[in-house]
Amino acid sequence: MAKQIVDNPFAPPGHDHASCILAALDAAEAACARRGERLTPLRRRVLELVWRGHRPVGAYDLLALLQDERGRVAPPTVYRALDFLCGQGLVHRLDSLQAFIGCGNTGDDRGGRVDGRHVAHFLICQDCGVAVEVRDGQLDGAISGLAGRAGFAIADETIELSGLCAACRD
Ligand SMILES: [Zn+2]
Ligand SMILES: [Zn+2]
Ligand SMILES: [Zn+2]
Repeated sequence: MAKQIVDNPFAPPGHDHASCILAALDAAEAACARRGERLTPLRRRVLELVWRGHRPVGAYDLLALLQDERGRVAPPTVYRALDFLCGQGLVHRLDSLQAFIGCGNTGDDRGGRVDGRHVAHFLICQDCGVAVEVRDGQLDGAISGLAGRAGFAIADETIELSGLCAACRD
């Protein structure tokens, strides 16, 4: 019998992913406009390619996709676009996979921020490859408290939990 999953953050396979992409691009445009940054057509296209699905994408895969569309594209072009997108918190780099995934919290009221820093907490399925960004106020509070007691200033807060999603466990 399938377990009762409360508040499963994994998007169902048949969901309307086109609207995920549109929402991400709209949120990115708005975030860049607020900050006076330019989401150039290339940066926007790279973001769109990162958002092709909910699986992290490697830089070389992105390069190949861009080359399919535009002919020769130099690797630094892609890396610079990814640097920009990561710097703006629109994309996260998952070190365990050496791959990139769109930020799922750009559109929330705090833009995925806690105490001014952009936090990234991921559940990553080792079977289907889907990575989901999750938010938990208690976890945020625990990490802030831990760092505060140690007098530690967190610069980067990416947590990558690997395992099996509910669908892959069935
Ligand atoms: Zn989607
Ligand atoms: Zn994020
Ligand atoms: Zn899975």
